[in-house]
Amino acid sequence: MSEVRFGLGGIPDWLEPMVRFCSRCGVRLAFGPVAGEERDRLACPSCGFVSYVNPRLVVTTLPITSRGEVILIRRGIEPGRGQWAQPGGFLEIDETVREAAVRETLEETGLRVEAGAIVGLYSRVQAAVVVIAFEARIVGGAPTITRESLETRPFAPDAIPWPEIAFETSIRALRDWVAGVRPDLPAPDPATIHRPFGG
Ligand SMILES: [Zn+2]
Repeated sequence: MSEVRFGLGGIPDWLEPMVRFCSRCGVRLAFGPVAGEERDRLACPSCGFVSYVNPRLVVTTLPITSRGEVILIRRGIEPGRGQWAQPGGFLEIDETVREAAVRETLEETGLRVEAGAIVGLYSRVQAAVVVIAFEARIVGGAPTITRESLETRPFAPDAIPWPEIAFETSIRALRDWVAGVRPDLPAPDPATIHRPFGG
């Protein structure tokens, strides 16, 4: 959990190339004290522009079948290719979280859903994301294979493939969902499950 490295820009190393230059004037940003700011910031030494770098929101659903199973996809793209996760993706600038949940689920599973209760909200600092998971009711469509999903399959609460779940945030969301519908089932400890892709 603590392996994330924050570079000289005060942000995870992998993110640095994306915020290296001033988006207003193109000069290289510098990290340090900025007047009026409570913490060091990336700012432009030429024009004074302050670059605020914040986590992005990943919107996901746990689509539940009429038999009480959760739909997961086997990921067709990195990170986590070949492993299981719930459908989801980044919130676009022109949509609400529930619109994004419905759109991403349709794109990745072929299923039309209605987003219901929020199962949970999960920070993952290493990936600079916050993941929201909605429980979702399937209202139409049919499971399809897409570039992003090699397989779409329902899993009963007692049959979640824990060691093959791609992301820690997915494990935490599935744990919270299982705890709600089957509190009698043992919950895996995310720390004991090895996942090469983090998440
Ligand atoms: Zn500038």
